[in-house]
Amino acid sequence: MRRLFTDQSEKTSKKSDLFGISLSWELDGPILLDLLEKQNISLWSHTREEDDPIIFGGGPVLTANPEPFAPFLDVILLGDGEDLLPNFIDIMQEIRDYSRQDRLKVLARIPGIYIPSLYMPLYSSDGDLIAIEPINNEIPTSIKKQTWTSNILSHSQVITPESAWPNIHMIEVVRSCPELCRFCLASYLTLPFRTNSLEDGLIPAVEKGLRATNRLGLLGASVTQHPQFMDLLRWLSKDSFDDIHLSISSVRAVTVNSEMATILRKRGCQSLTIAIESGSERMRRVVNKKLSEEEIFNAAKYAYEGGLKKLKLYGMVGLPTEKEIDIEATINLILKIKKLTPGLKLTLGLSTFVPKAHTPFQWHGIKPEAKKRIQQIIKQLRPQGIEVRPESFGWSLIQTILSRSDRRLAPVIAKVRGSESSLGGWKKAYQEIRNSNIETTNDQPIPLPKLPELEEILFETWSNSQVLPWSHLEGPLKSEFLIQHQQQSLTQELN
Ligand code: SF4
Repeated sequence: MRRLFTDQSEKTSKKSDLFGISLSWELDGPILLDLLEKQNISLWSHTREEDDPIIFGGGPVLTANPEPFAPFLDVILLGDGEDLLPNFIDIMQEIRDYSRQDRLKVLARIPGIYIPSLYMPLYSSDGDLIAIEPINNEIPTSIKKQTWTSNILSHSQVITPESAWPNIHMIEVVRSCPELCRFCLASYLTLPFRTNSLEDGLIPAVEKGLRATNRLGLLGASVTQHPQFMDLLRWLSKDSFDDIHLSISSVRAVTVNSEMATILRKRGCQSLTIAIESGSERMRRVVNKKLSEEEIFNAAKYAYEGGLKKLKLYGMVGLPTEKEIDIEATINLILKIKKLTPGLKLTLGLSTFVPKAHTPFQWHGIKPEAKKRIQQIIKQLRPQGIEVRPESFGWSLIQTILSRSDRRLAPVIAKVRGSESSLGGWKKAYQEIRNSNIETTNDQPIPLPKLPELEEILFETWSNSQVLPWSHLEGPLKSEFLIQHQQQSLTQELN
């Protein structure tokens, strides 16, 4: 087995049987094409030859909506890799003498394995997606994401100065999040919430890591929701661990207490990160963030009293039903926190809402006014000494294109790489492909209709009855539940 790094130009033998990529962020998608090109492997699945490797992909982006990347991949693994990946490799061993097409047909019948070339998107005469169907009745009509429910413990296996985090031992504390914030892929796509055992999992993993480094990272969508998280921290606060340095990902504000802040400070943490999403109580109800203003203030006070130097807050703009008054509420809340905790350095990370597949907000488009609202927050808060770090609005638009499109987007991804990968480059490539006759681009095995208007992908709220590019892929919750959650959120508008 070989692991490739995107910043190195290593080559593997073209004769390898398998070539895989895991995608965690939409904007990393075009890297797949660069990697294939470096290995002299054809970009398009339908043009690969018998002895080319089988190109497979997995990870959250491809599990949520793989369709824009479908024409580049032979196999997509949907869900947790613990069982799925070894299963896939074992089956590939058994069928390695079969023809390429027969290998794909066998794999298509394995739960969680999606073979895009064996599914055909059907469109109305207006170019609307009306179904994605298997090419024959031996192929399942839908594919269910696989969920691993046994031991989920994963931690760093290699600590090397050449990795992105050169000297830190990462440990997964929890998987998924039970909070169900309506926009959140990390919760909805990965349900159910699972925790690692303290005695048999986390403590041995910490001890193993400390043999290689004194830096520990505790990871998970919501680490402090682990029922024994405080026990883990108390254990790490022992004198024998005086030289370790601890980092944790963002925490739920309601779980913060002064003991937690004190231990984190003692173990080298300078800051605490909490996601408030919005300063508006109504908006927090809309997104199902069960967090009162008082709980936010308490978390800030505990961080301050515990001796932490910084509080990082995360907020989002452009959420469904958001109004000007909600933006003002965010500005006011941050200013109140500043007043309450003088001396605590405040940072506000701001992102724009991007719709994600398999969440209740998957039908909502991005709000064009989000760009202006980000500027409004910056203008009000920076002069007050609050550091505001906005995520690029252009990136959010590109993420939306990738998270909501179907496989007609693939020629755009192929065109837009390298210097073209700015928002302007994406828009230009999208329009060029849209204006060309896709049939003549020779990129697709079958002719597909024109791409939809870009505005429809970016900004429109879609009807709940619309066939989605991922309708044939089963996430943890059925569409009826997602609609229910969406409706519950939207009725908060009235309260
Ligand atoms: S608390 Fe955080 S991780 Fe959990 S659902 Fe909400 S946004 Fe997602």
